Amino acid sequence: APLTVAIDGPSGSGKSSVAKGVARRVGLAYLDTGAMYRAATWWCLHRGVELSDGAAVAHAVRVMPLVMGLDPAAPTVHVEGVDVGEQIRTTQISTAVSAVATNLDVRAELRRLQRAVVDAEREPLGFSGGRGVVAEGRDITTVVAPDAEVRVLLTASEEARLARRSLDVHGTADAAAVAATRDQVLRRDRDDSTVSQFQVAADGVVTVDSSDLDLEQTIDAVLVVVEQ
Ligand code: C5P
Repeated sequence: APLTVAIDGPSGSGKSSVAKGVARRVGLAYLDTGAMYRAATWWCLHRGVELSDGAAVAHAVRVMPLVMGLDPAAPTVHVEGVDVGEQIRTTQISTAVSAVATNLDVRAELRRLQRAVVDAEREPLGFSGGRGVVAEGRDITTVVAPDAEVRVLLTASEEARLARRSLDVHGTADAAAVAATRDQVLRRDRDDSTVSQFQVAADGVVTVDSSDLDLEQTIDAVLVVVEQ
């Protein structure tokens, strides 16, 4: 039967790479919900919407023509037919995304879209093939798919998270690069603190600490939970 795997975690926990790896190994679709909040932010900026105008932001997101590609080997994000996969990873978007993600109307709209993907993938005879899905983000285990068969909170020490983000963004984890990453990561943690809660796992959610694991080891640790 189609399986739903929900993975939450903070930035730098490695959740995107882990979620993609798990999806590939099990043969599931992959949904990056952070990319949806990033795409929403890109779309607002692209349309000249003032991010401080909550009603305008909510309206823009409701009419956003967003298409998520769910192949874990090559996930894609298109808005109005434009491949925005690279543009949504810029520092400009990373800095602005929390302002959009804390808008409750935006969250309601994106959750609706996320839930539609989960439901479509749960349908064994569905149009999309009913493979099941790995969905990752901040509120998947708690709000979007609390009914998922597998729910994992991926954590990592602050040190490990900073080193990973630094490698992602600067290509190195030397002291200067880590210091440059530090402000951005800690500020986004703070900005996101109303939408996500990582200190304690919700009931029934399994915590996997990736601080001392490499990517393959973390994927294996999540697969152990999947097989339980
Ligand atoms: O995971 P990623 O860093 O790409 O997420 C970008 C932003 O999207 C987060 O900082 C957070 O503000 C928002 N987000 C969210 N809920 C999710 C996924 C991401 O609020 N389920």
